[in-house]
Amino acid sequence: MSKKQRKNPLSLKLDRRNFLKGSALGLAASALPLENADASFIEAFFQKHFREMNKKEIQEVLNRLEKEYSEQYKKHVTVKATKAMPGVQFGYGLDLSRCIGCRRCVYACIGENNQSRDPQIPWIQVLSFRKGDKWTDLEEADKYYNPATVPEPEHWYMPVQCQQCRHPACTRACPTQATWKEPDGIVVVDYNWCIGCRYCMAACPYGARHFNWGEPHIPDDELNPVTHYLGNRPRYKGVVEKCTFCIQRTREGRYPACVEICPVGARKFGNLLDPSSEIRYCIENKRVFRLKEELNTQPKFYYFYAT
Ligand code: SF4
Ligand code: SF4
Repeated sequence: MSKKQRKNPLSLKLDRRNFLKGSALGLAASALPLENADASFIEAFFQKHFREMNKKEIQEVLNRLEKEYSEQYKKHVTVKATKAMPGVQFGYGLDLSRCIGCRRCVYACIGENNQSRDPQIPWIQVLSFRKGDKWTDLEEADKYYNPATVPEPEHWYMPVQCQQCRHPACTRACPTQATWKEPDGIVVVDYNWCIGCRYCMAACPYGARHFNWGEPHIPDDELNPVTHYLGNRPRYKGVVEKCTFCIQRTREGRYPACVEICPVGARKFGNLLDPSSEIRYCIENKRVFRLKEELNTQPKFYYFYAT
């Protein structure tokens, strides 16, 4: 086993699952591979659920992760756990009449959110449609389009990512409560509690969750060292991840990276509870729609045509 894998508590993800199984059978102790365990591994293995930790325990976990990531990526990495701001419910708008399908948002998201470069598992997918085609079947849409230039004549584009549902189907499906909706509406995953069963992926009607089949790979010099525990910190093989509205940015009053990078201003973001926010303006003044409304997931992601 390599040093990197040994340092990574979730490289032994299956052992947590076996451990939980083993506990019921009174075999817990034998499930923990003590011959490979160092103090850091044992702490991670027995880490409490994030929502049950007190302030001191959270700080200890953040310190441990900062040390591990800094060693692994050979640079100073910070891991914060900034809480939701009171009076904030985040919402997102996407102007389909502006999107040109350039995928800059996809690549900005990969960089900002420390997504694996190999294998690639982008959180945003941009779908391409021919004008006049039936488009309601998202699963059938072309997400691998690769023309010489965009936009292509007679085409339009629809970026899709986590819709941060008010009634998320994903969180209800999770057997370990490793995923939940935060007070500001962002649906998050505790990668240390995810057991990789993928029930949430099956439950999500938008294909917004992604599974790390292999060990994620990010070159050391490309790692974004400013991370959030519930967001863009490096993930592990065997866990599920997804868009968090750039929790590490937005909880500090910044825009998500995809909003900042979009060259045509197709992406809008703000506080749904603030009557003067741009997102409220869009919802109140445009003909907005949400994907698969009939499922009553109530996405906080609104699509519209401004022109
Ligand atoms: S960056 Fe803007 S224009 Fe380009 S694909 Fe994303 S949303 Fe569309
Ligand atoms: S889009 Fe999918 S992953 Fe995101 S909150 Fe809704 S059900 Fe969950």
